[in-house]
Amino acid sequence: MEKNIRRPWIGGNWKMFKTIPEALSFITDLKARMPNPLLADVVIAPPFTALPALGKAIQGSPVQLAAQNVHWAEEGAYTGEISTRMLLDAGCHYCIIGHSERRHVFGETDEQVHRKVAACVKAGLKPVLCLGETLEEREGERIWEIISRQLLEAVQWLSSEDMTQGVIAYEPVWAIGTGRSATPAEAQEVHAFIRGLLEDRFNKTLAMEKRIVYGGSVTPDNIRELYGQPDIDGALVGGASLKAEKFMPLIKEVHQ
Ligand code: PEP
Repeated sequence: MEKNIRRPWIGGNWKMFKTIPEALSFITDLKARMPNPLLADVVIAPPFTALPALGKAIQGSPVQLAAQNVHWAEEGAYTGEISTRMLLDAGCHYCIIGHSERRHVFGETDEQVHRKVAACVKAGLKPVLCLGETLEEREGERIWEIISRQLLEAVQWLSSEDMTQGVIAYEPVWAIGTGRSATPAEAQEVHAFIRGLLEDRFNKTLAMEKRIVYGGSVTPDNIRELYGQPDIDGALVGGASLKAEKFMPLIKEVHQ
């Protein structure tokens, strides 16, 4: 089965939660519960302040680190921003880009998302590229137009080799932090559509190999059905990633 060639991926987006001691205590707990060997990619995205401490704490463990945002410039007079080089230095492997909170709360545009994706790929930081429609866009039957635009603008100028880096996260805005997940069928439909776009824009191999994960109110109660879908390769998790005892069952469900 095609899905077996894609290693499961599960990420925890901590948003603006956890101090350094809280982050370290989570990691100690998570490492103690981790399956060994680990047959999935497990990624934690803490706030910037906790990255260096967690970067050290995960050494020798299979957990990988993600940042929640990045600036596209290598360095410069950009008060409050962080570069790819700084994130790599802090021990990051991935960077979340275009999260709906960045797009809708902070007004991030498709062009900015594209610049960030391109900067990450160039620096060797794997993008977690987030795409998703609002409820209004879904109800107005604009979902396909929105998802196509977000994806194709983000990956403009990228080669298929660049595209092997990182994962895509389908995160419907109306499902994030609301307790209302997309149904497995709704999510599968969009994941298959994204895979089709990747095949048209790049090639069949890339489309088949690219991991597309679902995000939006994922919990231990709904992960099995979501992950059971042929084009869902894991999850990007917010709320349920904040406690190791809730996050661990999610890892176990995608662990093959
Ligand atoms: C997210 O922030 O990416 C997310 C999916 O949040 P939640 O799981 O809380 O809906």
